[in-house]
Amino acid sequence: MHHTHIQNYRCPKCGGKLEPGYIAGQWSRLRWCLKEKTKTVFSGKPLKKVPDIWNAPTVEAARCDKCKLGVFSYDN
Ligand SMILES: [Zn+2]
Repeated sequence: MHHTHIQNYRCPKCGGKLEPGYIAGQWSRLRWCLKEKTKTVFSGKPLKKVPDIWNAPTVEAARCDKCKLGVFSYDN
């Protein structure tokens, strides 16, 4: 596993230390969308350039469990 500085980020709300991890999806690619509800895998833009067909889609992330807020890193 590679490590980036995302794990050193602080919570944008409370300034506390963030818990590192990954946001994982199921089956279809993780996408960035401008609306809350989408029905197809074609709306929005994938967060990763190259999909991993053997594993569920993930992006590196860090979250604050107290504020229920998080940041994530993507490459597309
Ligand atoms: Zn917080």
